[in-house]
Amino acid sequence: MSYAFFIDTTRCTGCRACQVACKQWHDLPAEATTNRGTFQNPEDLSFTTYKLVRMEEAQIDGRLKWLFFPEQCRHCIEPPCVDTAMDESAIYKDEKTGAVIFTANTSKLFIDDVIESCPYNIPRRAADGTLAKCDMCNDRVSNGLLPACVQTCPTGTMNFGERDKMLELAEKRLATVGQKHAGAQLVDADSVGVIYLIAEKPSAYYEYLMASTGNHGITRTMALKKMIRPFTRAMQQLA
Ligand code: SF4
Ligand code: SF4
Ligand code: SF4
Repeated sequence: MSYAFFIDTTRCTGCRACQVACKQWHDLPAEATTNRGTFQNPEDLSFTTYKLVRMEEAQIDGRLKWLFFPEQCRHCIEPPCVDTAMDESAIYKDEKTGAVIFTANTSKLFIDDVIESCPYNIPRRAADGTLAKCDMCNDRVSNGLLPACVQTCPTGTMNFGERDKMLELAEKRLATVGQKHAGAQLVDADSVGVIYLIAEKPSAYYEYLMASTGNHGITRTMALKKMIRPFTRAMQQLA
């Protein structure tokens, strides 16, 4: 069975309970941060921050609006990171749950290639040379529990379950939210395991979202890189 998240950003209050729950479950340390004039904290994902509630203050129709976006790995249906790694001991898709998992063997990969292959700019380099990101709380999910972030979210923003049910829920909410917000849409719903509902057009959010929406995350340049990568590696191994 393949699982999916439905993240209804229209319900998000930016409380960051999901961000903290992710750290708690994975026993990840807090990060030293500075005041950058924004409530978003820390500044970005990292090898010890798998979940980050991005916060934008946007002026929409003459009014100031908070846009919250709980960022994490999208657990792509056909993950470019898996294709790029070409090493299932380092990056693999758990067919039982749909989780895309990075292991300690990522340190043996062409790390820059893997980072570049991700359409959503998710993998982060750890101090020991491995890559880290959200693992869908695969240990919890495999044992019948919800991911920690979903379990903790108090507003119904974070949802998790069988993919068909999540898609159904997403379409239903889109129909409701779309009545008030012309820009409402589901982001890349056909190609990812983490389906976001956003109320405004992607350009109101931030650069990653803008870059990914509308092309299912795969740019022409990336597709070309994927095609020539095996040949490049073979040449490197021969040299
Ligand atoms: Fe891999 Fe990036 Fe897709 Fe996550 S979002 S599965 S890291 S390609
Ligand atoms: Fe973190 Fe688990 Fe949520 Fe992924 S699914 S963001 S690892 S709590
Ligand atoms: Fe938003 Fe829920 Fe995370 Fe709070 S816990 S920031 S409401 S997704």
